[in-house]
Amino acid sequence: MQTECSPAFIIFHSSNIFYIHIPFSLEMRYSTIYEGGKALDEKIIKKLLEIFPDGLSTKEEDKIIYSRDYWPIALRWFLDKKLPALPQAIVWPESKEQIASLIHLANEHGIPIIPYGGGSGVMGGAVPIHGGIVVDMKRMDKIVEVEDENLTVRVQTGINGMNLERKLNHHGYTLGHIPQSLYCSSLGGWLACKAAGQFSTKYGKIEDMVVALQAVLADGSVIESREVPRSSTGPEVEKLLIGSEGILGIITEATLKIWPYPEKRKCLSFAFESMEGALEAVRKILRRNVYPAVVRIYDEEETLRHFYDVQEAEGKCMLILLMEGVEEVVELERKVAEKICKINGTPCGEKPVHHWLETRFNVKESSEFLPRGFIFDTVEISAPWKNSAMLYHSIIKALKSVKGMVIASAHASHFYPQGVCFYFTFGGIPPKGMEAYDFYISAWDAIMDECIKNKASISHHHGIGITRKKWLAKEMGERMKMLKKIKEAIDPNNIMNPGKLVVEDE
Ligand SMILES: Cc1cc2nc3c(=O)[nH]c(=O)nc-3n(C[C@H](O)[C@H](O)[C@H](O)COP(=O)(O)OP(=O)(O)OC[C@H]3O[C@@H](n4cnc5c(N)ncnc54)[C@H](O)[C@@H]3O)c2cc1C
Repeated sequence: MQTECSPAFIIFHSSNIFYIHIPFSLEMRYSTIYEGGKALDEKIIKKLLEIFPDGLSTKEEDKIIYSRDYWPIALRWFLDKKLPALPQAIVWPESKEQIASLIHLANEHGIPIIPYGGGSGVMGGAVPIHGGIVVDMKRMDKIVEVEDENLTVRVQTGINGMNLERKLNHHGYTLGHIPQSLYCSSLGGWLACKAAGQFSTKYGKIEDMVVALQAVLADGSVIESREVPRSSTGPEVEKLLIGSEGILGIITEATLKIWPYPEKRKCLSFAFESMEGALEAVRKILRRNVYPAVVRIYDEEETLRHFYDVQEAEGKCMLILLMEGVEEVVELERKVAEKICKINGTPCGEKPVHHWLETRFNVKESSEFLPRGFIFDTVEISAPWKNSAMLYHSIIKALKSVKGMVIASAHASHFYPQGVCFYFTFGGIPPKGMEAYDFYISAWDAIMDECIKNKASISHHHGIGITRKKWLAKEMGERMKMLKKIKEAIDPNNIMNPGKLVVEDE
């Protein structure tokens, strides 16, 4: 079960900066948590070189880098000299034809294929638990076409999020998809995990932005849909790839909706006595068909953490709103939102929103907490309005009851007329004698069990990966059988990201 390999690097990212440093002496050895796969023989390596003359690595340091994504518990393991699992090779394709050839080869020899975008996934989705070949999509990063009349962009899926948004802005557009991981994630990863950006209440999640898709399926065939706004030609089978976390094929191109760059922005903030009061104000705004781009409600604990110098918000829940678009519409939205919020909220001005805008890409918890033995994670879930406040309180209570828990807080950051996404943060120190992983899973259990019990969804936008597999079948019920059949039909040799998403019968 334990494989050994030479040491390498650890990568932390804070905002858009990647720090690479070698934490231990070069003599140190690592063990792996998952088995990984068997070595590729020379014949296969030779064939891989024919397909990727300039895009193949079997180097130890590359294998270590691609042994994990941004799954927090894997970062902890790394500090304990353990890797999740090693791949046997990494390839960097530049065309769908190369990917198709690779997939044919993988089917012939039963080699796992793991698509890899930015490696910012936080669920372990890109970890090669059965070994195999990691397909890093970063060289497939071309913007194929920006279509002004249709308001679409056609783009290869290896593109880095910030590069895509920056280029669109340069041409006078926005995608409206700004996840906190904008600088370190790719379009392919967003599509495979159903990502959500900070401006989602107006522009939607990534799945709402897709017009057409191109993908290489698990049998090497290439599918492509038409760039039309809607069609009535049966189920949109290509959309099975959205949220598929790499188990059905590799998404190679997408045509997405874009918007003219907003001409006006308006920021508002209000402090509410309770989470209930803030949620109710937002629910009423959306019922009036007004969709601010950014809507975020912080509970008392997070308000204190992020807005400690806003006196009006002391001991309260902060709501921040950002409206953007055409000037007249923004002004109207401001009026409606302000009127509703003023009923029970205390106005706090624009400053807290500007503060959020300035700090919204700061991520330092993993580099600060983990080396100090502090285990933390963030967990997003979604719930209908009806039981949203109750669920928020019951999850916080459940988290606080986990032994060793120090932090249990949340904000709500994605809203719909039908409900809301809560984003919980937990952190603590495992009690003496308890393994880090056991503490970690107890905290996850606390949140997931409440979701299942209250018919909420266990994930809003991070996906399933390794962490959430434990609870997925419970949420999906009979639908898991359907997913299994789809997987077996499209990928009979189970080469695409094996061990993910489909829950085996226990
Ligand atoms: C600091 C930080 C902040 C974050 N903020 C957000 C946020 O605001 N919103 C949000 O939604 N998420 C967020 N995330 C999580 C993460 O960024 C998203 O899950 C993102 O969608 C992953 O993209 P990626 O390119 O890094 O994918 P990876 O981690 O490389 O891969 C994720 C999964 O997608 C599959 N995959 C990748 N590319 C393809 C492809 N072309 N075809 C098929 N499958 C593919 C992989 O096999 C894997 O299963 C954050 C993560 C971090 C570390």
